[in-house]
Amino acid sequence: MTEHTLFTRIIEGEIPCYKLYENEHVFAFLDINPLSKGHTLLVSKEPAPSIDQLSPNSAAAVGKALPILSRAIKEATGAIAYNIIQNNGREAGMTVPHVHFHIIPKYVESKHTFAWEPKSLDATEAETIAEAIQLSLNE
Ligand code: 5GP
Repeated sequence: MTEHTLFTRIIEGEIPCYKLYENEHVFAFLDINPLSKGHTLLVSKEPAPSIDQLSPNSAAAVGKALPILSRAIKEATGAIAYNIIQNNGREAGMTVPHVHFHIIPKYVESKHTFAWEPKSLDATEAETIAEAIQLSLNE
């Protein structure tokens, strides 16, 4: 028997949470360590460890739920903006290997940032990588 992920245990009610929303494919609740008021996790019920392994049905349900939840969070919190963050893999900051999206409201007084160090796109590298990704997409 495979071990349940932390989020499956929350979905099944074994671990308590502040639940916000649920349907056949997704479950949403407040993050236990919020970056800001209303920081929400939208989790696929399917326990895929990363989004590239998520089924089309679950992916579609997550895509449908994101704007619904975002609207409700914005309206309820009065946030002026929000970020949607989704980590895949430990090296990318994922601590719970079960597909989830963070919806993180931003307020006038918010101080949190997301580190980002942009570089210029190298034309040679861009051509090579674009071709490689297109090939993978067509496989
Ligand atoms: P990740 O770092 O994997 O993208 O995000 C995992 C998130 O799950 C973190 O923001 C963390 O605070 C949240 N989290 C971890 N354990 C629990 C828990 O038991 N309950 C709730 N509500 N959130 C949790």
